[in-house]
Amino acid sequence: MSEIINGKAVAAEIRKTVLERASAFERKHGRKVGLAVVRVGDDPASAIYVKNKIKACEECGIASYSHCMGANTSQAELIELISTLNADACVDGILVQLPLPKHIDERETLSVILPEKDADGFHAVNAGKLFLGERDGTVACTPRGIIELIKSTGVGIEGKRAVVIGRSNIVGKPVAALLLEHNATVTVCHSKTVDLKEITRQADILVVAVGKKHFVTADMVKRGAVVIDVGMNRDESGLHGDVDFDGVKEVAGYITPVPGGVGPMTVAMLLLNTVDGAGA
Ligand code: NAP
Repeated sequence: MSEIINGKAVAAEIRKTVLERASAFERKHGRKVGLAVVRVGDDPASAIYVKNKIKACEECGIASYSHCMGANTSQAELIELISTLNADACVDGILVQLPLPKHIDERETLSVILPEKDADGFHAVNAGKLFLGERDGTVACTPRGIIELIKSTGVGIEGKRAVVIGRSNIVGKPVAALLLEHNATVTVCHSKTVDLKEITRQADILVVAVGKKHFVTADMVKRGAVVIDVGMNRDESGLHGDVDFDGVKEVAGYITPVPGGVGPMTVAMLLLNTVDGAGA
């Protein structure tokens, strides 16, 4: 039977630090740390994420500047807004909520954000710094949060065999780079991986970012492993992870729930990236 990793509690500790740092910044500079949150279109999930992020800013002493643009917004209009925010001295961090409508090129748009204002850590400069082992870049929020959750278990990462399922630019690749940075031996699996179960069963640390409800089952997990479930799969019965929690918790040593695991950490790390970016 595993220990449940309480993402809400770990996130609350981080938020406390953010509030202290943001308050100290305000006393020193006479203004709040500022985060601009940009949303384009009417994706309902994005609306919920943005609302949560704005609420989290308020609770942690960060000013949020919300920009909701219509679904027909052109790429040029979005880039113009980002350029204005880049030049705004009250804006320390910029977040463009993904996904963007299909007619907008995500990569090109994100590349316009100044790397030092890139609160999400998705800019090529920041992603590159992570892979080069340069520590002065912004690390993407979810991967940064995942590392904190693993550390919260007290299980050391160094020397461990870590397996990541998923190779997206926002989760799989950066979390693999961070685990490597922490001296784990890392294997990255994806949809073309052969004998996935053989690989995952060797993992002391298993990070799952696939986007398929209950994809990882108990027979794929090594006894005592740390299992981090990144998945957020919504259906009529609610929010579900990529891990079959009820089965896997009987085998794993530590496991994150969904909700209440990685999700709260992603928001906390966005706030932390924002105060970091402000130099608070
Ligand atoms: P993504 O871009 O769709 O990537 C999914 C990855 O899973 C791909 O690399 C894909 O392989 C791999 N995959 C798909 N089917 C597979 C299979 N049968 N066997 C092995 N690998 C397989 O997803 P993402 O953006 O990384 O997100 C993953 C999940 O995390 C989603 O549920 C998302 O909502 C959630 N998420 C949560 C948070 C949070 O804060 N909690 C943040 C971000 C994402 P290929 O590359 O070969 O296609």
